[in-house]
Amino acid sequence: MIQVTKPFLPPIEDYKEYIDKIWNRQWLTNMGPLSSDLEMRLKEFLKLDHLLFVTNGTIALQLAIKALELKGDIITTPFSFVATTSSIVWEGCNPIFVDIDERSLNIDPSKIEAAITENTSAILATHVYGNPCDIDAIQKIADKYKLKVIYDGAHAFSVNYKGKSIFEYGDISICSLHATKLYHSTEGGLVITKDPTLLKKVALMRNFGISDFNKFGDLGINGKNSEFHAAMGLANLKYINQIIEKRRELTLQYNTSLKTVKGYTPKWNEFSNPNFAYYPVVFETEQLLLNVMAELEKNQIFTRRYFYPSLAKALPYLAPQDLAQADSIAKRVLCLPLYFDLTIEEINFISRIILRTQNNTEW
Ligand SMILES: *Cc1c(COP(=O)(O)O)cnc(C)c1O
Repeated sequence: MIQVTKPFLPPIEDYKEYIDKIWNRQWLTNMGPLSSDLEMRLKEFLKLDHLLFVTNGTIALQLAIKALELKGDIITTPFSFVATTSSIVWEGCNPIFVDIDERSLNIDPSKIEAAITENTSAILATHVYGNPCDIDAIQKIADKYKLKVIYDGAHAFSVNYKGKSIFEYGDISICSLHATKLYHSTEGGLVITKDPTLLKKVALMRNFGISDFNKFGDLGINGKNSEFHAAMGLANLKYINQIIEKRRELTLQYNTSLKTVKGYTPKWNEFSNPNFAYYPVVFETEQLLLNVMAELEKNQIFTRRYFYPSLAKALPYLAPQDLAQADSIAKRVLCLPLYFDLTIEEINFISRIILRTQNNTEW
């Protein structure tokens, strides 16, 4: 059986070494030494001055919205994971969907200005599949209308934009370290901001707002992460370059063996390096996608429709809305299997099934 993704697991000895330390120290959570060590090593690896290790990517988004004190309307993308939108609603704000660009699959900056009103407080955009948004265009609009910018970089671990970590952009960026992501700590997330005051505020909020023993500096929540999760993060970080290199090879093989596919892969931002987190294909029609999925399933190969349906249509707590590109792309995009243990032979097998299906189908 081939799944769409499989979490990377380090050699168990690597993990056990950290676990032994936890047992000896008997310090299990609350910003322990492994969590601090992970934060330090991630700063080194990503070349960032500041970051905070938090419970998960969703809490990271909620902390970002809360710390920036956003109110009213937040402009966002309908083509993302549900947490991007649900965090906005959870924090008592209204998501305002702006359609996406069909080449990058990211929010289309040329459509943002028309959606801005006096109620707009921010733009929350996702670097979809790790592919950077048009950051310069978004920042220009944000500056003009005095809006905050949050980037959902859940997929964007190790991506750079114009020579700097992608997480340096916007007022706050977040990343997810969930088991299904490129780099993971089982569950986990990162909050990144260059603003030291904002960083302090998020750090306080992460720990119930406790500023000192018996003292509360702000409204807070439990956004901490545990030593066990930090241990997984530390153990995995040793392999991240190998993981990315392997995914690069697999991606190049897909590119070669799917050269004649009736569809396209998103256009990667020209100022940036890919991290090979996903292999999405936008098929020419939804019918072709459904046929391909069915044919792959017959061969025990499981793909995922990331992200379908459009968030502007999918959520029972929001009025459904048509957005031409997002609707069309969401129906036609399929993420193909991509993970560390996948082999070149398996990629060729998957690709053959796809090409055979498209050449036999009438639609
Ligand atoms: C995974 C994901 C999240 C949520 O991250 P968790 O760590 O699972 O809470 C948010 N946004 C996007 C785009 C994601 O893919």
